[in-house]
Amino acid sequence: MPPIKNCTICCRLRDRETSFSKYLDPDLDRPFPEAADRLVIVAALGMKDAGKRHVRRCPECGTLYDYLSWHEYFINGSEENEELSRMNTAQAAVFIRAQARLLEALRREVDFLESSAGRLGDFIDRGRPGDAEAGEALAAMQEQRRQAAELRCRLQEHVAVLRRSCPEIIAAWAEAHVRVCRSFQASPGTGSENDGTARFVADETLSRWQRLAEGGESFIAIAEPWLDGYLERLDRELAETEKGT
Ligand SMILES: [Zn+2]
Repeated sequence: MPPIKNCTICCRLRDRETSFSKYLDPDLDRPFPEAADRLVIVAALGMKDAGKRHVRRCPECGTLYDYLSWHEYFINGSEENEELSRMNTAQAAVFIRAQARLLEALRREVDFLESSAGRLGDFIDRGRPGDAEAGEALAAMQEQRRQAAELRCRLQEHVAVLRRSCPEIIAAWAEAHVRVCRSFQASPGTGSENDGTARFVADETLSRWQRLAEGGESFIAIAEPWLDGYLERLDRELAETEKGT
């Protein structure tokens, strides 16, 4: 992020801005500086009551701000207060990683349901189930596929809106995966005949994550049987605290 003073929006906002308005008493109004209107609300995941609390982003330099609003009720009219606080680099990094973890949690749900449906499909095709067993497996498989499709849509929507409102979140999520894929590419392998396939899967997965930021598909499956320990490595990449702190 460039320094605040080089940004035509952020240079007109102090680290903390407040606004105040009182019902039916416009003389007392003290709005945010106009530059605050140019900030864009981040369509963040997991935000409850986003009208009262959300994050805004400067479209020019990417600086993030915490937004908070609250009412106070009085007999002679309610008062409305707002507060806008600029995040420092560390606070922004914490927010971005937390959002990336939520995207990843959604991706894993889809991945889990699709893998599970796939195993049921294999069982129906090759497991020689009896009629009743096959019927049950088919119903379960169809339900898992339905749930997976629904969550996949939700993931796609989140990725689409975040690409516009806070591309840094998509980048952080993708970069964590890219680092894990590279760690598999760099590992010497086990010397088994599967090494070639594992290397191929790591290459393919890497290129899909590299395409994500530019508009590639939003759901990317991880073939864990070939990439043993992938998710644990990713959890470390997206952990709450920076490595070494
Ligand atoms: Zn800015």
